[in-house]
Amino acid sequence: MAVNTEAYKKIKAELDSQGVTLVAVSKTKPASDIQQLYNLGHRDFGENYVQELVEKESLLPKDIRWHFIGHLQSNKVKYIAPFVHLIHGVDSLKLLKEINKQALKNNRVINCLLQVHIAQEETKFGMDENDLVEIEKSNQITTEMKYIKLQGLMGMASFSDDMQKVRNEFKSLKHLFDKYYLLLTPGSPLATLSMGMSSDYKIAIEEGSTMVRIGSLLFGERNYTTS
Ligand SMILES: *Cc1c(COP(=O)(O)O)cnc(C)c1O
Repeated sequence: MAVNTEAYKKIKAELDSQGVTLVAVSKTKPASDIQQLYNLGHRDFGENYVQELVEKESLLPKDIRWHFIGHLQSNKVKYIAPFVHLIHGVDSLKLLKEINKQALKNNRVINCLLQVHIAQEETKFGMDENDLVEIEKSNQITTEMKYIKLQGLMGMASFSDDMQKVRNEFKSLKHLFDKYYLLLTPGSPLATLSMGMSSDYKIAIEEGSTMVRIGSLLFGERNYTTS
């Protein structure tokens, strides 16, 4: 059995005591692994790839809250819009507009987090502070995007053994969260700060995370097959 249910119970209890939400990241893992944690009562699962998410959604219980945590392309929003619970990786106003459009078509409100680029690495997607200011100024979210609920921010720290560096990156995201949490959505302040993965979730929580995304500690290492 690949799922580490002992680790799950331990981490879940640890996070519950701190009021932090656990998103179990199940990318590349079979539906049966998800079902196993589901049977223990878990409902929040995170996936990175649209096709994989759509497939698993069709196989698994309907009360799962699906988190899309990968890089989302505008032309694929329509496939997950009917059921997705929270989209973590929104990195442009253009994408937000498309999500709003598809949410309207499905007559539902879709929860979103803006992804902020905090790592020093080039490869990570996300907005910077200027983009947040732009969104705030444009006022479009509150006035035009009625089918979006902007819930907070998401970020990924560098993959690094330098824990001070990782901590500082989380600090910078928390700083932005505090600075913009009222401005971005007046009347409905941002509530979710999604930061922290298997290797750094403890630091993320110390720095103010309210939601962590944990994969390998629960499901084991991922094997990427080249196809
Ligand atoms: C894969 C992934 C995770 C989980 O990573 P682990 O190191 O396995 O915990 C979390 N967040 C994002 C955005 C991911 O792509």
